[in-house]
Amino acid sequence: MEREQLDFYRDLLMGERKKVMKIIEGIDENLSNNIRDSVGNVSAYATHLADLGTDSDEREKETYMLDRELRNLKNIDNALKRIHDKTYGVCNYCGDEILSQRLKAIPYTELCINCKRNEERINNNHR
Ligand SMILES: [Zn+2]
Repeated sequence: MEREQLDFYRDLLMGERKKVMKIIEGIDENLSNNIRDSVGNVSAYATHLADLGTDSDEREKETYMLDRELRNLKNIDNALKRIHDKTYGVCNYCGDEILSQRLKAIPYTELCINCKRNEERINNNHR
Protein backbone atom coordinates (compact mmCIF):
# COMPACT_ATOMS: atom_id res chain seq x y z
CA MET A 1 0.00 0.00 0.00
CA GLU A 2 1.15 3.52 -0.80
CA ARG A 3 2.52 5.76 1.93
CA GLU A 4 -0.30 8.26 1.41
CA GLN A 5 -2.94 5.57 1.78
CA LEU A 6 -1.29 4.26 4.95
CA ASP A 7 -1.37 7.79 6.36
CA PHE A 8 -5.03 8.08 5.46
CA TYR A 9 -5.94 4.87 7.28
CA ARG A 10 -3.75 5.74 10.24
CA ASP A 11 -5.72 8.98 10.70
CA LEU A 12 -8.96 7.02 10.35
CA LEU A 13 -7.81 4.51 12.99
CA MET A 14 -6.61 7.21 15.36
CA GLY A 15 -10.04 8.87 15.13
CA GLU A 16 -11.71 5.51 15.77
CA ARG A 17 -9.37 4.91 18.71
CA LYS A 18 -10.29 8.24 20.29
CA LYS A 19 -13.99 7.36 20.02
CA VAL A 20 -13.47 3.94 21.61
CA MET A 21 -11.35 5.42 24.42
CA LYS A 22 -14.11 7.88 25.20
CA ILE A 23 -16.70 5.10 25.40
CA ILE A 24 -14.40 3.02 27.61
CA GLU A 25 -13.80 5.93 29.96
CA GLY A 26 -17.56 6.57 30.15
CA ILE A 27 -18.29 2.93 30.96
CA ASP A 28 -15.49 2.78 33.49
CA GLU A 29 -16.92 5.74 35.35
CA ASN A 30 -20.42 4.25 35.35
CA LEU A 31 -19.08 0.92 36.56
CA SER A 32 -17.20 2.41 39.49
CA ASN A 33 -20.21 4.60 40.36
CA ASN A 34 -22.42 1.53 40.41
CA ILE A 35 -19.99 -0.32 42.62
CA ARG A 36 -19.79 2.65 44.99
CA ASP A 37 -23.60 2.80 45.06
CA SER A 38 -24.01 -0.81 46.05
CA VAL A 39 -21.38 -0.46 48.78
CA GLY A 40 -23.22 2.59 50.12
CA ASN A 41 -26.46 0.64 50.15
CA VAL A 42 -25.18 -2.24 52.25
CA SER A 43 -26.93 -1.07 55.45
CA ALA A 44 -30.24 -0.85 53.60
CA TYR A 45 -29.58 -4.18 51.93
CA ALA A 46 -32.99 -5.81 52.54
CA THR A 47 -35.06 -2.92 51.20
CA HIS A 48 -32.83 -2.58 48.17
CA LEU A 49 -32.82 -6.20 47.06
CA ALA A 50 -35.03 -5.45 44.07
CA ASP A 51 -32.88 -2.48 43.11
CA LEU A 52 -29.73 -4.49 43.41
CA GLY A 53 -31.17 -6.92 40.89
CA THR A 54 -31.51 -4.12 38.34
CA ASP A 55 -28.08 -2.81 39.25
CA SER A 56 -26.34 -6.07 38.54
CA ASP A 57 -28.20 -6.43 35.24
CA GLU A 58 -27.03 -2.96 34.34
CA ARG A 59 -23.50 -3.76 35.43
CA GLU A 60 -23.52 -6.96 33.40
CA LYS A 61 -24.56 -5.00 30.33
CA GLU A 62 -21.82 -2.45 30.91
CA THR A 63 -19.22 -5.13 31.53
CA TYR A 64 -20.26 -6.69 28.25
CA MET A 65 -19.99 -3.33 26.48
CA LEU A 66 -16.62 -2.67 28.06
CA ASP A 67 -15.46 -6.06 26.90
CA ARG A 68 -16.54 -5.32 23.36
CA GLU A 69 -14.90 -1.89 23.30
CA LEU A 70 -11.67 -3.27 24.73
CA ARG A 71 -11.68 -5.82 21.93
CA ASN A 72 -12.22 -3.01 19.41
CA LEU A 73 -9.35 -1.10 20.93
CA LYS A 74 -7.10 -4.12 20.60
CA ASN A 75 -8.11 -4.55 16.95
CA ILE A 76 -7.39 -0.86 16.29
CA ASP A 77 -3.99 -1.09 17.95
CA ASN A 78 -3.18 -4.20 15.94
CA ALA A 79 -4.17 -2.37 12.74
CA LEU A 80 -1.95 0.59 13.69
CA LYS A 81 0.89 -1.84 14.21
CA ARG A 82 0.25 -3.33 10.76
CA ILE A 83 0.36 0.18 9.28
CA HIS A 84 3.70 0.65 10.99
CA ASP A 85 4.93 -2.67 9.60
CA LYS A 86 3.41 -1.80 6.19
CA THR A 87 1.46 -5.06 6.19
CA TYR A 88 -1.81 -3.19 6.53
CA GLY A 89 -4.64 -3.83 4.09
CA VAL A 90 -3.67 -7.43 3.39
CA CYS A 91 -5.97 -10.26 4.41
CA ASN A 92 -4.56 -12.14 7.36
CA TYR A 93 -5.88 -15.42 6.06
CA CYS A 94 -5.46 -15.58 2.26
CA GLY A 95 -3.00 -12.72 1.75
CA ASP A 96 -5.19 -10.91 -0.79
CA GLU A 97 -5.54 -7.16 -0.67
CA ILE A 98 -8.59 -5.99 1.26
CA LEU A 99 -10.82 -3.69 -0.80
CA SER A 100 -10.52 -0.02 0.18
CA GLN A 101 -14.32 0.13 0.39
CA ARG A 102 -14.17 -2.44 3.19
CA LEU A 103 -11.21 -0.79 4.94
CA LYS A 104 -13.01 2.53 5.01
CA ALA A 105 -16.05 0.92 6.65
CA ILE A 106 -14.04 -1.22 9.10
CA PRO A 107 -10.47 0.16 9.15
CA TYR A 108 -9.29 -2.44 11.69
CA THR A 109 -10.46 -5.49 9.78
CA GLU A 110 -7.90 -8.26 9.30
CA LEU A 111 -9.83 -10.31 6.78
CA CYS A 112 -11.01 -9.73 3.22
CA ILE A 113 -14.74 -10.02 2.64
CA ASN A 114 -14.49 -13.59 1.32
CA CYS A 115 -12.55 -14.88 4.33
CA LYS A 116 -14.84 -12.97 6.69
CA ARG A 117 -17.85 -14.65 5.12
CA ASN A 118 -16.17 -18.03 5.42
CA GLU A 119 -15.38 -17.37 9.05
CA GLU A 120 -18.99 -16.38 9.77
CA ARG A 121 -20.22 -19.50 8.03
CA ILE A 122 -17.93 -21.64 10.18
CA ASN A 123 -19.03 -19.82 13.35
CA ASN A 124 -22.67 -20.31 12.47
CA ASN A 125 -22.13 -24.03 11.97
CA HIS A 126 -20.64 -24.27 15.44
CA ARG A 127 -23.66 -22.72 17.07
ZN1 LIG B 1 -8.87 -13.32 2.57
